[in-house]
Order: sequence, then C-alpha cells, then structure tokens
Amino acid sequence: MSSIQLVDVAKRWDSTTALEGIDLEIASGSFCVLLGPSGCGKSTTLRIIAGLETASSGRVLIDGRDVTDLPPAERGIAMVFQNYALFPHLTVADNITFGLSVRRMAAAEASKRLAETAELLGLTALLARKPSQLSGGQQQRVALARALVAQAKVCLMDEPLSNLDAQLRQEMRAELRQLQQRLGLTVVYVTHDQAEAMSMADQVVLLNRGRVEQAATPRSLYAAPATTFAASFIGTPAMNLLRVADGRIAGSDVAAGRTADWLGLRPESVTLGGRVPARVRSVEYLGADLILHCGVGSESLTVRTGGQAELATGSEVLLDWPDTALHYFDAEGRRIH
Ligand code: ADP
Repeated sequence: MSSIQLVDVAKRWDSTTALEGIDLEIASGSFCVLLGPSGCGKSTTLRIIAGLETASSGRVLIDGRDVTDLPPAERGIAMVFQNYALFPHLTVADNITFGLSVRRMAAAEASKRLAETAELLGLTALLARKPSQLSGGQQQRVALARALVAQAKVCLMDEPLSNLDAQLRQEMRAELRQLQQRLGLTVVYVTHDQAEAMSMADQVVLLNRGRVEQAATPRSLYAAPATTFAASFIGTPAMNLLRVADGRIAGSDVAAGRTADWLGLRPESVTLGGRVPARVRSVEYLGADLILHCGVGSESLTVRTGGQAELATGSEVLLDWPDTALHYFDAEGRRIH
C-alpha cells in the first residue's frame, strides 16, 4: 500500500496559474476525491501525481519516496481516464493485458493475472469481445481491469464514470468503492460531482482556484464547512447563506444569535411552523421532497420539506430551525468557530 504526499506543489503556464501551492496528505489504502468546479485544478493535480505534468515547484512523494523527477512508468501508479481509451480493434483480453505485453511480462504470468482480474471484475465471459460489443458499464470495467492488472498500489482516476448514465453511475460508484476497499488500493479520484465525492471518499479535497479550500471527511465537510465556498458547494440544495445586518438576518427582525457577516443554514434544517415569518416565492415539487424558495427579510431562504406538504407560490408561512443548525461566517467567508 502507498501513501501520497504533495508538498507546496504549484503549476503555472505563462499567464495561467493552475495551482497556487498545494499541500496534501493521502493515507495509504484510502479513497481520496479531488472535488471542485471546472478549472479549479483537479486534473492538473492528478496529472502531477501521475508524472504526466511537471510541477513548477514543490515535491511529490509516494510511499515517502520523492518521485518528483521520475517518469510516470517508474512511479508505481495506474490511471483510468474518462474516455476509457480502449483499443477498438483489440479484444477485451488484449486490451487488459496490453500494458503487460509492452513491459514484456512472461505469457504465463500475464494470463494468470488476466484470469484473476477478469474474475474480480466479472469480465470472464466477455474476454473475446471487442469494446464495441460491450455496454458502457462493461467498457468502464475493462478500463479498470487494465489499471488493476498491473497491480499498481496507487490508482488515479479522472472522472471515470462521467460517460455513464445516472443509474449505472450509481452502481459503479458502489462497485468501485467496494473494490478499492477489498484490494486496499490508494485511489485518487477527480470529479466535479459533489454527490459522487460524498458517497465514495474517505477524504474529500475541495479545490477552488488552484487552492485547497478544505480537506476533510465527507461528514465533517457537510457538518462544518470551513468557508462559504465549501458551504455552498456541498449539499443539494446548497446551504443558504443569509446576510447579517445589525445582528439580524438582513431586512428582518430575526436575531442572528451571534456576531457574523453570514449566517449559513441548510435547507433540510428548516422546518415548517414556528417563529419566523416568510413568504413563499416559488415551489419545486420533486416527489419525495418539496423545495420552497422563500423570502425572509431581504434574504432568500431555500427550505427542503417532505413532498406531501402542499404550499402555493405567494403563501405566507412560519418557519423554524434549531440554533445548533446555524453556521457563522465572517466577511471573508471564513467559518467562525
Ligand atoms: P479542472 O480539472 O479542475 O477542471 P484543470 O486542472 O484542468 O482544472 O485546469 C486548471 C487551470 O489550468 C485552468 O484554468 C486551465 O485552463 C489551466 N490549464 C490546464 N492545462 C493547461 C495547459 N496545458 N496550458 C495552459 N493552461 C492550462
């Protein structure tokens, strides 16, 4: 098993700075997700770990060994990309063992590994097929098999599920996670999908404009976002961020409870009935859930409640929430503890 460390890694291209100086510790055998909006530096970080891109400054360590100046092939890593990059004219078996034959592994060893890996991923019956004869999920498994057959201890994945439809993506998430745990792999996984990050990761590294905004377990990222950016990136619908003026929610009589510039409140923490008057501006019915977009003072407050509630746009409601559900942030968007 292998741990990964990034020490003050920066990446610049002429006028663009992709990474500002990233420090990161990824524990051996853990599933680490690099999460953030498009352009925040996720793929660049992954490619620097892989050795496909050279850092402008800083060091990369795998298992305590400085690999900053090593080529990809000497880093003991495997990669799975979004587009799978399968060879259309080769069979599944040949696609899986392609890298082994390039490295001139003995045929007996290669076919033993092929058999094991195919078994592990449920591909045994498909080995003679061509990629075009496979479903999206099966192609994804072949790409994964190709990474695993090399028996690398670190597996890097760049949006590997983004070509799959929603239901298959959910199944593959669970499958990937189980496989990673069973094999004790160290996985670094890039996605812009917060639900994917939350459901798979041991550690989520949230990036924003080339910096680490917060690195934490999914639970602590949700429970205690370090910044307003983290607060609004994790959770659907996003956390409400209400401006505070004179100790109250702006434009209202509702006390904020303590000194802060922003008050954070998750839509699922708000209940119907109580002390805070609000006006329903719009309603989204989602079956299990009803999402209300309300006005409180001069601020907007999204509320998530059960789908059985029937409320019309324009109605006046009373809302409530427990004090423990409130998050406070300063003018720069940093959490106030
Ligand atoms: P993400 O994966 O989070 O979408 P990237 O790591 O691909 O983001 O890109 C981070 C930033 O670096 C972006 O502003 C992108 O335009 C820039 N960038 C990426 N690759 C190059 C390159 N080869 N040359 C110049 N700029 C690049």
